[in-house]
Amino acid sequence: MGQYAALGDVAGKRVLVRSDLNVPLDGDRITDDGRIRASVPTIRELSEAGARVVVTAHLGRPKGEPDAAYSLRPVAARLGELLEREVAFAEDTVGESARAVVDGLADGDVAVLENVRFNAGETSKDDAERGAFADQLAGLADAFVSDGFGVVHRKQASVYDVAQRLPHAMGGLVSTEIEVLQRLTRDVQRPYVVVLGGSKVSDKLAVIDNLLGKADTLLIGGGMVFTFLAAEGHEVGKSLLEQDQVETCRDYLRRSRESGVEIVLPTDVVVAPEFKADAPPTTVVVDAIPADQIGLDIGPDSATAFAERIAGATTVFWNGPMGVFEFDAFAGGTRAVAQALTEVDGLSVVGGGDSAAAVRRLGFADDAFGHISTGGGASLEYLEGKELPGITVLED
Ligand code: ADP
Ligand code: MG
Repeated sequence: MGQYAALGDVAGKRVLVRSDLNVPLDGDRITDDGRIRASVPTIRELSEAGARVVVTAHLGRPKGEPDAAYSLRPVAARLGELLEREVAFAEDTVGESARAVVDGLADGDVAVLENVRFNAGETSKDDAERGAFADQLAGLADAFVSDGFGVVHRKQASVYDVAQRLPHAMGGLVSTEIEVLQRLTRDVQRPYVVVLGGSKVSDKLAVIDNLLGKADTLLIGGGMVFTFLAAEGHEVGKSLLEQDQVETCRDYLRRSRESGVEIVLPTDVVVAPEFKADAPPTTVVVDAIPADQIGLDIGPDSATAFAERIAGATTVFWNGPMGVFEFDAFAGGTRAVAQALTEVDGLSVVGGGDSAAAVRRLGFADDAFGHISTGGGASLEYLEGKELPGITVLED
């Protein structure tokens, strides 16, 4: 229990654990339980030490009020299967049901509270409103363990404010994530290659600013590539394009030429007339993207070029699928990049919810990579050099 030494002996104590159980669901079927699995060791360790474990987490983006579509009930059931023990479920987060469930816990028992984002106070920008909700959460426990890496970049009640109200400790999952991120920022083993893709373009462009001073090579694919291609003067048809970021991309390309940090863009892309699984794919070179088509993957030549650079690196960080991997016809680039990461002789890190889901969907084993991070946004903000409020608060 070294990890939790700051909490003293946890036996018999009610320990509130903030986990990240934000898994993709299809109805009430969990399509990828990776985050639940990743949360198990901390919960199990506390339970085995005799704590009364009260898990709080969010699912999706409900609007600050109960919404059955975002209930954590199926997630609690899956957690019970993985822990191989009964997991109690509270129908609310801090109400009557939560209090009754927590009161009913014996030493070593585990409960999950309903989606913390059913309460407007959780994500409120108003310190007083957030604080009032954190008071209620803190009232359910004697100590707090922060283990939801996917949310540590958020100043939210169950991540930040609650830590100010209870004796607290960093969970094992979060500390492992931070250790890996440190290896990507301090004394990095070179060559250091970063692969960026996915669809959250404006979110992710910010990280490039910092990486231009750190990485040796940046490989760009996914939805964000089209803003770069537009910055180079190419037509991108109906592809994802952030017009107001074109200038930023042009600036990155200029800085890359000046600094010697290479930004590598694809030379070919796979396009289709529609965003659909069975849309007919065509491979075109990047200066011949038809006006009526959407770019949905990097092309095979680019995939090979990216894979070669990755396999030759000693440190690789990858965030964001290279294409719409959910559709088989547009999964080739993502598969090639994933395969290359498994061949890295050094540290390979996959970050991001969809990127992690992609490698599993494409049949790669988790242990084929050095580390699969549970938090995309949090790891990117760390790499951007930003302070993570949910980490800083634990240091006080
Ligand atoms: P992560 O969760 O790994 O950080 P994102 O959430 O940013 O990644 O992006 C994942 C999504 O990006 C996937 O659902 C994928 O289908 C989508 N995507 C990848 N390439 C494209 C593209 N060319 N056009 C549209 N969407 C894309
Ligand atoms: Mg995502």
